[in-house]
Amino acid sequence: MGSLGTKHASCTAIPEAEGKAEFQPLNPEDVRAYLHKAVDFISDYYTNIKSMPVLPDVKPGYLQDELSSSPPIDSAPFDDTMKELRASVVPGMTHWASPNFFAFFPSTNSAAAIAGDLIASAMNTVGFTWQASPVATEMEVLALDWLAQLVRLPITFMNRTSTGRGTGGGVILGTTSEAMLVTLVAARDAALHRSGSAGVSDLPRLVVYATDQTHSTFFKVCRLAGFDPANFRSIPTGPETNYGLDPVKLLETMQADRDTGFVPTYVCATVGTTSSNAVDPVGAIADIATMFNVWVHVDAAYAGSACICPEFRHHLDGVERVDSISMSPHKWLLTCLDCTCLYVRDTHRLSGSLETNPEYLNNDATDSGKVTDLKDMQVGVGRRFRGLKLWMVMHTYGTSKLQEHIRKDVAMAKMFEDIVCSDDRFEVVVPRNFALVCFRIKASGAMTEEDADGANRVLMENVNKTGKAYLAHTVVGDKFVLRFAVGSSLQEERHVRNAWDLIKMTASSILD
Ligand SMILES: *Cc1c(COP(=O)(O)O)cnc(C)c1O
Repeated sequence: MGSLGTKHASCTAIPEAEGKAEFQPLNPEDVRAYLHKAVDFISDYYTNIKSMPVLPDVKPGYLQDELSSSPPIDSAPFDDTMKELRASVVPGMTHWASPNFFAFFPSTNSAAAIAGDLIASAMNTVGFTWQASPVATEMEVLALDWLAQLVRLPITFMNRTSTGRGTGGGVILGTTSEAMLVTLVAARDAALHRSGSAGVSDLPRLVVYATDQTHSTFFKVCRLAGFDPANFRSIPTGPETNYGLDPVKLLETMQADRDTGFVPTYVCATVGTTSSNAVDPVGAIADIATMFNVWVHVDAAYAGSACICPEFRHHLDGVERVDSISMSPHKWLLTCLDCTCLYVRDTHRLSGSLETNPEYLNNDATDSGKVTDLKDMQVGVGRRFRGLKLWMVMHTYGTSKLQEHIRKDVAMAKMFEDIVCSDDRFEVVVPRNFALVCFRIKASGAMTEEDADGANRVLMENVNKTGKAYLAHTVVGDKFVLRFAVGSSLQEERHVRNAWDLIKMTASSILD
């Protein structure tokens, strides 16, 4: 303070006078320092992860016992935050990135994807309309069109074709559930519109179809979209179709519904079910759906990624006749959560149901009709710049490396399947389609099916308890089955072999 100042004048200079630095949460030097520490942490994490137990040994509520239950008033050095992260957060993690993780489906990742996500977080754009951040929309549309070409989706699903803009297109959402929800709503409105009655009075007549293997989120989303649970048709499957949908049953069910005054509206076909990787016949379903004007959605959350390899693409045969398809590169295409790619043949059917036009979002670009406003193809308005990481993955690795990655996982799964088959205490329960092996200790001799179920349950529990591998289970055809999902990004053949040795040893201790 200058000595010439009066007492009153000093008020304006208080902060500096007390030597307090101004709060600058985005100070570029702090950004550099914090992120370097975070990146070092991540790199060390990947180096050390293989020796960490896959499943944590913590009790519910453990974190509250370790960390302060109320937020601090004063700031603390970033190093303190990182110290607590190491000491208290990491021990509570299930290490999905561990090469010894074989549960559920892998959540694959890559350096390029993490970099893309990090940069998107830093840019922090909110690209609800094209105008709100042109490149966010343009990049998303470009990345989706690239991926469509990798999977050889028909041109009708692409945003841009050589002859310009078609009616098709895509959007990146957070989850498959959202992809189902937005397409269900569009199909619902189309069916209501066709029925000719006003408003939603016909809603109680609309019917949706899936199989008993379809992901449980489908019927949840149907409830969200207002469908009557009494109108959810869950078509039974069995070993005769390897748990894929039997088109004859679908046809009969739809006919019976129509004959009794119901309105068949939407069918969800799955390519690669979560339980056992069953594949529904997309083409046959599309043919039946056409007869009833039903919307067909293909859920290829996991297995869609395999279809970038020509040898798996036949699982999508007939996709040119469906209305929409979604796949999640965050499962098997090296792109971190969240990234579900939804493609629809007619984007206007989505935007017809989901469009909003508040005055404060009005802009010339939208008025020109030349741009896509992605807010009109999703539930929310705000959206992350997800296209960046997907583009960075495809740009950095190229189709050949991505195909190599899929093929390596499938080869490791095949190897595991072969070893299981060579041990006559075990059986492979359904034929392997991708990189998931469904197997179990089989009932033999005096052992009943129920005994075998019990033995498999104990086998899974004992294997998981070691922390050296993590597998999950399912029930297929009333049998308790172990799921061995290959494909965690750091996995190599030796991890698969080690897991088998552990399973074999554990089984011996149970069976002997
Ligand atoms: C993982 C999965 C889902 C669920 O996806 P969310 O993104 O969690 O909603 C749905 N269907 C299939 C086939 C899946 O594998």
